[in-house]
Amino acid sequence: MPLGEFDVIARYFSRNSPRGDVLLGVGDDAALLTPAPGQALVVATDTLVEGRHFLAGTPASAIGHQALAVNLSDLAAMGAEPAWALLSLSMPQSDERWLADFADGLYALAERHGVALVGGDTVSGPLVVTVEVLGFVPPAAALRRSGASVGDLIIVSGAPGVPAAGLEELQSGRATFASQDARVRRFLRAEPRLALGRALRGFATAAMDVSDGLLGDLGKLARASSVGACIDLERLPVAPELAGYPLAEQERLVLHGGDDYELLFTLRANHFGRIAHLAEAGGCSLRCIGSMVQGEGVECRRAGARVNVAGQGYDHFAS
Ligand code: ADP
Ligand code: MG
Repeated sequence: MPLGEFDVIARYFSRNSPRGDVLLGVGDDAALLTPAPGQALVVATDTLVEGRHFLAGTPASAIGHQALAVNLSDLAAMGAEPAWALLSLSMPQSDERWLADFADGLYALAERHGVALVGGDTVSGPLVVTVEVLGFVPPAAALRRSGASVGDLIIVSGAPGVPAAGLEELQSGRATFASQDARVRRFLRAEPRLALGRALRGFATAAMDVSDGLLGDLGKLARASSVGACIDLERLPVAPELAGYPLAEQERLVLHGGDDYELLFTLRANHFGRIAHLAEAGGCSLRCIGSMVQGEGVECRRAGARVNVAGQGYDHFAS
C-alpha cells in the first residue's frame, strides 16, 4: 500500500536538525526559528518542474540535490550563509524508493552546508519541487547586482558551460543518467559556490550566480548597475571537459549554458590577486573575462575587435 502523506513526512523528511537555532522543526503547524541578531535574513525560493527544469527519468537523488542547490546558489550570490530550508513537494504517488533517494540527495547537500530542513508541504500532483532557503548576511556585506562601476573587472568562477554540455549529452541520448562522463556528473551534481560568495563580502562590487547563461546574466548585472560590460572571448575559461569541442561550440556552451551555479561578479582591479588566491585555496579557479565600461549592454570582443554574439539568457515566457 502506498504511504500516506503523514507517513511520507515522518519517514523521509523528519531527520534531526543539525542546528541549535531551530526551536521547532518539522511536525507542528509551523517552524520556530531564532535568527541571529544583527544579521539580515536572506530568503530565496525556486521551483523545479519535471520536463522543464529536469528531464523525465532524472534520478531522484539528483532532483533532491538540484532543488536545494539552485537555492543555495542564490544565497551564495548574496554572500550569505544558509541556515534553514523548506520543501514543498508535489508528486504523482508516494513511491518509497524514489522518496528515499530524493531525501538522500537533498539531505546530503544540506548537511554539507549546515542547513536544516524545517518544514514544507506534501501534496499529490505532477512532479514539482519547490525549495525555499533562508540564511544570513551582515546587512552591509550583502552582494547585490547593482554595485558595479566603470573599470571594475568582470570575474567568473570555475568552469561555466560544463553542466550544459552534460545536459546535451543526456538529451541527445549519447549518455545516460548512470554515465560516469564528467559533464553528466557535473550537470547532475553541480555544487553551489557558498564559500566563494562569503569570501567576496566586502570585495565584490556586484555579484550574481550564473543560472541562465553567462552572457544573458552579465547583461542583467550590467543593467542593474547602470553601466555596460565588455568581455574578451579569448579570455573565457574553457574547462578540460570542453577541450574537445570546436571553438564555436565552446563559446556557445560557456556563454549560453545554464544550470551552472558559478558566480559572476565584479571587483576593483587591485582586489583581484587577493580574491583569486583565496578562491584557489578553496579549490575554485577564477577568471577575469573583461571589465565594466561606460554605456549599456554587453559587448563581446575577439582580438580587440567587436563581434556580435547572438542570444540572451533563458526566459520562461519568451516565445
Ligand atoms: P499543515 O496542514 O498544518 O500545514 P502539514 O500536515 O502540511 O501541516 O505538515 C505537517 C508538518 O510537516 C509541518 O511541520 C510541515 O512543515 C511539515 N512538512 C510537510 N511536508 C514536508 C516536506 N515535504 N518536507 C519537510 N517538511 C514537511
Ligand atoms: Mg500543509
